[in-house]
Amino acid sequence: MPAAPLDTDVIIVGGGNAGFTAAHAAAERGRRVILLEAGAADMAGGNSFYTAGATRITHSGLDELREWLEPDERWATTVVPPYTADEYRADLEKVTEGRNDPELTEVLVSEVTPTLRWLQGKGLKYRLMYERQAYERPDGSYLFWGGLHVGNVGGGEGLIADHTRVAQESGIDIRYGHRASELLTEGDRVVGVRVTTGEGEVELRAESVILTAGGFEANPELRREYLGEGWEHAKVRGTPYNQGDMLRAALALGAGRGGDWQTCHSVQWDAFLPENESNRELTNRLTRQSYPLGIIVNRNGERFLDEGADFRNYTYAKYGKEILRQPGSVAWQIFDAKLRPMLRVEEYDMPGISVEQADTIEELAEKIGVDPAALGETVRSFNASIDRDKPFDPTVKDARRADTTPPKSNWAAELETGPFYAFGVTCGITFTFGGLKADTEGRVLSESGDEIAGLYVAGEMLGGLFSNNYPGGSGLAAGVVFGRRAGAIA
Ligand SMILES: Cc1cc2nc3c(=O)[nH]c(=O)nc-3n(C[C@H](O)[C@H](O)[C@H](O)COP(=O)(O)OP(=O)(O)OC[C@H]3O[C@@H](n4cnc5c(N)ncnc54)[C@H](O)[C@@H]3O)c2cc1C
Repeated sequence: MPAAPLDTDVIIVGGGNAGFTAAHAAAERGRRVILLEAGAADMAGGNSFYTAGATRITHSGLDELREWLEPDERWATTVVPPYTADEYRADLEKVTEGRNDPELTEVLVSEVTPTLRWLQGKGLKYRLMYERQAYERPDGSYLFWGGLHVGNVGGGEGLIADHTRVAQESGIDIRYGHRASELLTEGDRVVGVRVTTGEGEVELRAESVILTAGGFEANPELRREYLGEGWEHAKVRGTPYNQGDMLRAALALGAGRGGDWQTCHSVQWDAFLPENESNRELTNRLTRQSYPLGIIVNRNGERFLDEGADFRNYTYAKYGKEILRQPGSVAWQIFDAKLRPMLRVEEYDMPGISVEQADTIEELAEKIGVDPAALGETVRSFNASIDRDKPFDPTVKDARRADTTPPKSNWAAELETGPFYAFGVTCGITFTFGGLKADTEGRVLSESGDEIAGLYVAGEMLGGLFSNNYPGGSGLAAGVVFGRRAGAIA
């Protein structure tokens, strides 16, 4: 126990989804909580604010979900396939190629649904994500796909508004514009934090400190150092405050590294809109996720990945890196007039979007500065290689393959009806996968596995769950599960 007087019982550094969840769990136990947030109130909420609120949970279908989700008149004609713990575990193993920590995984898949229901009981609101995760079928019914079905009412903005209201109601002391810089120790115990505020530096002392201050995705030097050369040019999708301050502070104290520091979550992102970083108005609308329907080409007019390798939820988080590697770190998603109405409205009808349109592929190529002959040849050979016997069906993995190099494994549709569209994309970094080493309760551990007394971690800062890729919706899921666990013992 710290010797000097305490300012509170628990200090939480970082006011995103994980931090607020930890705060609710600690407050529920009667702990006095101060939550420190680097951003001012109108810049707060971390990456969590920028999300769509999509949260990957397990469930047995609509009958179970209707007990606690916000009602929707479309339920009568909706099919939501169950998503089991086994499927969740298998998805994590598949996309990380087995590099997901098995113990953290077990906790995540078994606790995510009860944890979300606990938050719903506190006043957070969840719903089925029709606009992102379901296709409307010809008979007007809806089929959900890809294991990710539930999200917050109001997306990330709604999530943070709900968290903030609940926190205020339970007496949590939220301090905006408070950027923690160092951890205070007595002996080998963490007893507080040093904080920079508008008025200068202060020290705050507590029995426990929970770190939920995000990764280092907004810090170009750290990106270059850990992710490699070129990553300093990636666009920051979310908050500018996740600079890795608390990762550095904890490592300096002897905390171990957890998870994969060499890889991150990154996506295809609007390339040319000048305000394409940390944009709080457009948030997630800058992402371009309908690529499985079309093709993606680089500046040479060449395809370079399998757009239809899997449902988008299982490929989108690793394809940003593939764009970063292309000449100039740009590429274009190409669609024709038949595909255009199937693109996600909130993204592809975004105001100011980077798009060119033309009646022929060659004219389109000229507009985007690509050799017309090269793009023409790419499209012709792609069209010619499609297995036309298989019906095109975006609600299932339809095996409608384009047998070219690289192949397109599903959803290959001829690009033949003008006008044609080219959406310019670059690499948008979402969050880094490397974090601190901790046990499954969130106690921070040294490299050799010893507990660092008084120090806990959750959210992006907890390493070990993800590597190279990630199943969509598991960031918020991990934040609530491990945030609640840390808050339950801190
Ligand atoms: C555009 C976008 C869309 C996304 N969509 C989804 C989605 O739909 N579903 C999903 O599961 N995940 C999504 N993610 C990923 C998701 O945002 C993260 O996995 C999750 O929000 C991380 O929560 P967190 O609480 O750990 O971090 P954050 O929400 O980033 O919170 C960290 C907080 O710490 C604060 N902070 C940082 N340093 C300090 C310091 N030194 N002192 C004080 N405060 C500090 C920051 O200001 C921030 O508020 C998306 C991310 C982005 C950027």
